[in-house]
Amino acid sequence: MPKKPKKEFQAPKGMRDLLPQDLPYWDKLIAAGQELAQDYGFFKIETPVIEDAELFIRGTGATTDIVEKQMYFVKTAGGASLALRPEGTPGVVRAYMENGMASLPQPVKLFYYGPMFRHEQPQAGRYRQLYQLGLEIFGDPGSVLDAQIIQFCFHLLKSVGLKKIDIHINSLGCPQCRPTYRKALLDYYRHWKDKLCPDCRRRLKENPLRLLDCKEEKCQPIKTQAPASVDYLCDECRRHFKEVLEFLDELELPYFLDSFLVRGLDYYTKTIFEVFWEDKAAAPGALGGGGRYDNLVKELGGKPTPAVGVALGLDRIVELMKKEQVRVSEGPNFKVFLVQLGLMGKKKSLKLFERLYQAGILAAESMSRDSIKAQMKIADKLGVKFALILGQQEALDSTVIIRDMQSGVQETVLQEKVVEELKKRFKK
Ligand code: AMP
Repeated sequence: MPKKPKKEFQAPKGMRDLLPQDLPYWDKLIAAGQELAQDYGFFKIETPVIEDAELFIRGTGATTDIVEKQMYFVKTAGGASLALRPEGTPGVVRAYMENGMASLPQPVKLFYYGPMFRHEQPQAGRYRQLYQLGLEIFGDPGSVLDAQIIQFCFHLLKSVGLKKIDIHINSLGCPQCRPTYRKALLDYYRHWKDKLCPDCRRRLKENPLRLLDCKEEKCQPIKTQAPASVDYLCDECRRHFKEVLEFLDELELPYFLDSFLVRGLDYYTKTIFEVFWEDKAAAPGALGGGGRYDNLVKELGGKPTPAVGVALGLDRIVELMKKEQVRVSEGPNFKVFLVQLGLMGKKKSLKLFERLYQAGILAAESMSRDSIKAQMKIADKLGVKFALILGQQEALDSTVIIRDMQSGVQETVLQEKVVEELKKRFKK
């Protein structure tokens, strides 16, 4: 039988490894995000990455792009129809209902972090496995919470070195006023039907609000003249939106009233917003987006529960942190380098490493190397002040040589005294 040619495996299209050189940025962002979310009174929740596909079809919306075109379906042996989560909110809503959180004192403030999956055309800042950090607040209709979520976004991005942020904000109204707006939009667009791109003609039938999302050149002049949702808000929605803007003014947070903003998901009511880097050319798309979804819990089978949330796109934020050369941890702060020679030396070195570690003295090492020259070269490169040399003789005598890397002066000390001796030298 001819041998099968060796297959070279690659990460699936649109997915990638996060490598050691990237992870200091991720770690900084995630640590800051989790800490800040907790400081804002949010509790962490983790939900499965796979859920009943129906949850997203009914939650996110059957005619939204992320469900209609981008969802990864998973068929189980038992025939269940599951899907990899394309976004976090429906899973958190399910968890809120399933775990009886509606009977806790409201509002319930939750945050999550993790991978989402969308079968999109990969490009800069657009992956098929993407990471989001999201916040959700359940059980309170107050406009102040919309503002608090936006405040969190500014605060977090600033704390990881990204200050030039602004938001686009709009209000989509509620089931009372949205139909009037929808009708006005339809009346307007029907007029231009023959001039629309094929996607917009489809949207006209299925999801008219998404007409405002169109990026096609030929639809732009039509879009600019389209009616704006804020002009059709009922009294309650207008009051709510006005309050949100007043809170943002009070916080001195920059925002842009964007009557074309609709967000891609079906469940929003009232406030919606997206977070942008000020220099739009430098960042591929929004860094995050969110809004109020006062009807979703009910639509998924729960009691009527107002809610508001946001999802921040960590992949794009990390890319910006790199572009902006944000400072991140350079790794452990090694104080000494442990040079070992021979089997006895190696054995004692492992023990010495542990002793130093317990005393708070981080030792770099290259245990797999045998040549003293090679090990000293690494010590030199790391710029540590002292090398500790442990060979056959030192192992037998329970001693170790402390070498001052700058002066080259060496002194032999007992292993049990080495911590004390090093501390004395570091003090000098
Ligand atoms: P969305 O709720 O779909 O607006 O997503 C929230 C945020 O997640 C966006 O503003 C982006 O920053 C990020 N995001 C969405 N889709 C992708 C993707 N395919 N790749 C990377 N980031 C994404």
